[in-house]
Amino acid sequence: MPALGIIKGKEPAPQKRARAVEIIERLDHAMPEAKIELDYRSPLELVVAVALSAQTTDKRVNLVTPALFQRFPTAADYAKAAPAEVEGFLKTVGLFRNKTKNLIKLGQVLVEKHGGEVPTSRAALAELPGVGNKTAGVVTIHLGAETAFPVDTHILRLSRRLGLTSKTDPDDVEADLRKVLPEPLWFKAHQLIIWHGRRCCDALRPECHRCVVADLCPKKGVKLKKK
Ligand code: SF4
Repeated sequence: MPALGIIKGKEPAPQKRARAVEIIERLDHAMPEAKIELDYRSPLELVVAVALSAQTTDKRVNLVTPALFQRFPTAADYAKAAPAEVEGFLKTVGLFRNKTKNLIKLGQVLVEKHGGEVPTSRAALAELPGVGNKTAGVVTIHLGAETAFPVDTHILRLSRRLGLTSKTDPDDVEADLRKVLPEPLWFKAHQLIIWHGRRCCDALRPECHRCVVADLCPKKGVKLKKK
């Protein structure tokens, strides 16, 4: 195995896999506390929090969910909720009108098709109102039901900067990440890459000078075009 680092030209697959594992090990060493930053206590609260986090920060979601979860503790409570009341809880969250509609529909579908419980498989979750493939993946891995590598905006950006994929479609990126990292690392890697994206490898101002994986990153020192 050649020394890890950046090589010019096409990187051999074994080297890319070894580099990917080293990246995750270093991130884990630097941020052993990395975990999902949404607050939840049940599968229902998890799926609601993840659905609300689209186009909104986790911090903002965590500000509104305690009161929301207290008022609507079950799927049946969402199913029979008045839109105006749900909107009252969500008005500081992006896309709150759509999210309100989806939460009420989510409650209805859970009651009608799943006995009021949240299904755990990614396929079943992805069919719920307001729950796409990414959200379904995030929920299923945090419920410990399936392994997956759901790709959000941070994982998409960092995977490309780190040269672990050249794709842009989240499903294609997930397929590449599944190939370069061993399955037992997927869950931790998912959380670590998001944390690194939020704390160091910012979309507009990546702080390469203090990045623990800079010597393994082909985009070290990336200069972003000003708009
Ligand atoms: S070196 Fe820079 S671009 Fe690469 S992962 Fe680190 S912060 Fe991001």
